[in-house]
Amino acid sequence: MNTHNQVSNQSHGKHSHKSGHNKHTSRKSHGGGRGSFKRQPSPRKEGFTRQKTTHHNKPHIPELAPGDIRIIPLGGVEQIGQNMNVIETNDDIFVVDIGIQFSSELETPGVDYIIPNIKYLVERKDKIRGVFVTHGHLDHIGAFPYIIDQIGYPKVYCGLLTKWMIDKRNDEFPHLQKLEYEVIEPGNRITIGNDIKVQVFAVTHSIPDAIGFSFETPQGNVILAGDTKLEHIDTEPVQREHDAYGKLARPGQENLIFLSDSTSAEKPGWSKNESDIIENILQLVKESKSRVFLGTFASQISRITAVLDGAHQFGKKVVLEGRSMKTNVDICIKSGRYVPPKGLIISADEANNYPPDKLVYLLTGSQGEEFAALMRISSKKHPKIRFNDRDTVILSSSVIPGNAVAIQKMKDNLARHDLRIVEYQTSEIHASGHGNQDELLWIQKTVGAKFFMPVHGHHAMLKVHAQAVVERNGFDRKNIVVPDNGSIIDVNRDGFTVHKQKAPNNVTVVEGFRVGDIQDVVVRDRKTLTKEGIFVVIATIDPKTGKMRKSPDIISRGFVYLRDSKELIQGARTLIKQSIIRNSKGKNPVDFEIVKKRLADDLGRYLVQNTGKRPIIIPVVLGV
Ligand SMILES: [Zn+2]
Repeated sequence: MNTHNQVSNQSHGKHSHKSGHNKHTSRKSHGGGRGSFKRQPSPRKEGFTRQKTTHHNKPHIPELAPGDIRIIPLGGVEQIGQNMNVIETNDDIFVVDIGIQFSSELETPGVDYIIPNIKYLVERKDKIRGVFVTHGHLDHIGAFPYIIDQIGYPKVYCGLLTKWMIDKRNDEFPHLQKLEYEVIEPGNRITIGNDIKVQVFAVTHSIPDAIGFSFETPQGNVILAGDTKLEHIDTEPVQREHDAYGKLARPGQENLIFLSDSTSAEKPGWSKNESDIIENILQLVKESKSRVFLGTFASQISRITAVLDGAHQFGKKVVLEGRSMKTNVDICIKSGRYVPPKGLIISADEANNYPPDKLVYLLTGSQGEEFAALMRISSKKHPKIRFNDRDTVILSSSVIPGNAVAIQKMKDNLARHDLRIVEYQTSEIHASGHGNQDELLWIQKTVGAKFFMPVHGHHAMLKVHAQAVVERNGFDRKNIVVPDNGSIIDVNRDGFTVHKQKAPNNVTVVEGFRVGDIQDVVVRDRKTLTKEGIFVVIATIDPKTGKMRKSPDIISRGFVYLRDSKELIQGARTLIKQSIIRNSKGKNPVDFEIVKKRLADDLGRYLVQNTGKRPIIIPVVLGV
């Protein structure tokens, strides 16, 4: 048991922490109408105060001065994912990308996705002239089904494969209308809104049909390139890259501002060429005397189709395993972007008819995802495929932070089959689709816009990107804006203003089919539940005398194992009794609110003193 000294230190902070939870349970009881909670009033409207800037008192959004251009990153500048940018003139609004962010179990437990907050757009949806999409990855298209109907189904401008990816994504949402598309490609220059021209240019990424846009406004070009890296020969970008970034400005139509990917801004030098990566993988495929299993991200579409073609060249057949792998290859084929040689792709059953050296498997699950193909095969749970010691497994992906434990587990599973594992740390078999710092600097310099705005990344990545542009490209620091989600930046050729007011930017989440604002308190409770557990006390008292009818019931989950904690629980019972008697004795009628609040306080102090844990405490006091 703990000593008394430790305790007094701890009890201090705990007090406010726990009473916060009490408030929460009171609030929650309103909708729920559960038992004893019902009688709790909610005198303070804390939730409202906290969120009034977005819910009740609309923030005063400054008017856009005549001729100015407004840029608002609605997402993607304080995280990886959730990419969405707004470009606004006096007459028109253009939207670029509508992405999701994958939720983290640590940060937002129980949430599926985080999506951009679009209140600013919803209030101005009559001004929206089009949605421009840079490429078909979910962090750029994934929030379409939750957003496109709310902003009035504007026309969508994107590449061919991107269109198919968006349609596939929307398929699972039957309430959505069919979208109106204009399929565009590099070199196109389209006219939209109040005679704004949009120049489309090609960018190198890990998926076909990735494009950038230059919005030719009267103040100059507003340029967004989406996710970018460079194809280069020993750090000399190929001609295609020069053509893409170097020819956007024309006499009388200068480049005003460039919004640039910061995902890999912290990585020094140049990223590896995707073409080299593919060559290395194909070498392994070619040399292998038995089956080759390639685990990679299903989003690496360029790599996947290249491996398909390579396998065919070597007279091998390919089995696709994993839903997203099959889906993405299927979309490539249906869209006409990829035509596989006849008979190349076979099923896992058909593979039994071929010798092992003629087989290549493309698999999902390189991040150790529990139900993905690679994990299921390695843990012998796949119904059709079993590894053996002659197999080669190529893990053609990096370790995404947060997945290290799962990946280790999968690698251990793989190693139990005594097969050969090839990894990106030791062989050049994976490159990110995002350019490293030197590539980004080359792009920034080549574009040569007057102003610069790093986007796509956490705040620290944006700052590193900005710093590098200043220190290494000699760019003027005061011409850089590092935005937050919802920052309102009004720009003209003389300068820019970052307004104090922001567009509504509180976090919007998708939980199952529900879309809404997440309340911090809900997430905080979920985190406490996972870490500290829950402790429920049900006490029945005589409302007139305050005497307890019987010994209180105690339920706990994720806190301590009750059977092994008899002493603790006995102490808790005694304390519960004392607390209730102290606060109800001689009161007629008994004030249940006070009894519960004090009980929670007393119990919280006792539990943290004796266990060091601060579970969520729910006191239920029934008067019968
Ligand atoms: Zn991407």
